[in-house]
Amino acid sequence: MTDAPPAKKKHSLRTRLSHAGRPGTHVQGFVNPGVMRGSTVLQPDIATRKAAGAKRLEQAWIYGTAGGPTHWALEDMIAEIEGGTRCQIVSTGLAAVTTPLMAYLSQGDHCLMPDSVYGPARNFANSILKRYGVETVFYDPCIDEAGLAALMRPNTKLVYAESPGSHTFEVQDIPTIARVAHAHGAKVLMDNTWGIHYFQPFEHGVDVSIQALTKYPGGHSDVLLGSITTNSDEDWEKVRMTANTLGQYASPDDCWLTLRGLRTMGVRLKEQMESAMQVAHWLRHRPEVAQVLHPALPGAPGHALWKRDFTGACSLFGVEFKPEFSQEASEKMIEALELFGIGASWGGYESLATPTTGNLVRTAGTGKFQGPVVRMHIGLEDPADLIADLEQALAAMRAQSG
Ligand SMILES: *Cc1c(COP(=O)(O)O)cnc(C)c1O
Repeated sequence: MTDAPPAKKKHSLRTRLSHAGRPGTHVQGFVNPGVMRGSTVLQPDIATRKAAGAKRLEQAWIYGTAGGPTHWALEDMIAEIEGGTRCQIVSTGLAAVTTPLMAYLSQGDHCLMPDSVYGPARNFANSILKRYGVETVFYDPCIDEAGLAALMRPNTKLVYAESPGSHTFEVQDIPTIARVAHAHGAKVLMDNTWGIHYFQPFEHGVDVSIQALTKYPGGHSDVLLGSITTNSDEDWEKVRMTANTLGQYASPDDCWLTLRGLRTMGVRLKEQMESAMQVAHWLRHRPEVAQVLHPALPGAPGHALWKRDFTGACSLFGVEFKPEFSQEASEKMIEALELFGIGASWGGYESLATPTTGNLVRTAGTGKFQGPVVRMHIGLEDPADLIADLEQALAAMRAQSG
C-alpha cells in the first residue's frame, strides 16, 4: 500500500487507526480496501513470472499463499500500531506464537519462557519443540537481571516474554530482559496481546512482537487471526520465510474483518479501559476481595513497571478473593453473573468471567494465591450495570459460603 494516505508516528493512535492501511487511489476512491481473494496470480509473461519468484520476502503479487492487498493493508496497519517495520499475518494468535519459535529455534537450542506464559505456548514448547530437540526452561516472570543472567547458557537462542501474563498479570521488566538476552546473543520474542500499542515493544528492546488479533483488533468475538511484527530486515526475513515455508495463511475475509475492527479499536479501547478501571476500583474496595490484579491500578502488583513502560491498559484483569471463599464459591459467583459470559478469549465487546484457579500450569513456583482467582474481561456494556451485576453475584458467593 505504497500510496496509502499518510499515517505518521507523530499522530496519535486514533488518528493512525483512521488512516493506516487505506487503499489510496487503488479502488476508485472507495474508502476501504476490498476483499481480494485468490490462489493463482496470472503473470503477463515468463520474465515477470521469474521476477515474481524472487520477491518472496516482499508484498508482491506472486501466489495466494504470499498474501494479497487485503493482507498487506492489515500488515501495514499492525506494523504501524506496534512501531515496527514489517508484519506477517498468520491464521491465529497461536500460530503467531509458534511460527517465530520455529523460525529461531533449532535442535540443541535452549529457550527461556516465563512461568506465566499463555498455556498453549507452554504446550507447544513442551511437545513439538521438545520433540525437535529444543529444551525450554520456565522462569519467574518477575526475575531480576542477575537471576536471568544465571539462566542463560551458550545455546540460549531465545528469551520469550508475555507482559503482563494473560491470566495472572505479572508485568515483566522487558528492557532488563532484553539487555540480558542481547548480551548473550539471544533474541527477545514477546506476546504483546495485552499491551496492543500501549506497550511499544521495539522501544523496549523486543525483537519480534506477537499479537492475537483475535482480541481487541478483531473486537467482535468472530475472527481468529495473529500477527508477527519485526523491526529489522534480518528478523523479517526469518519470520516471513518460516511462515511461508510452514504454509501459514490467513483468510482475506478475516483480514478484512480485522481491518474493519481496527477502525473503531481506539474508541473501544478507551471506553473499555475506563470501564475496567471503574470495575477494578469498585472490586478492590469490596470486603470479599483480597486484591485486584490489574497493572494499571495503583498499588496492584506490577503497577510501577506498568507506569514506567505502558501508556494505557486494556480491559482484562484478575480478582483474587479472600481465602475464606472456596473455589466452588467463586465459581458460583461466576455462574450468578447475568451480563458476563463464561468463556475463553477476550477483547470483544462483551464482558466475560472465567476461573483462573485450577486452570494454571506452573513449574517455576509462581502464580500462587491464597484465595480463588477469577479473570474478568470488561466489554462495552455500561459499567454501572456491570457493577450492579457483580454486586448481586458477590451476594450469591457469600450465601454459598454460608
Ligand atoms: C488468545 C491469546 C493467544 C492466541 O490467540 P488465538 O487467536 O486464540 O489463537 C495468544 N496469546 C495470548 C496472550 C492470548 O490471550
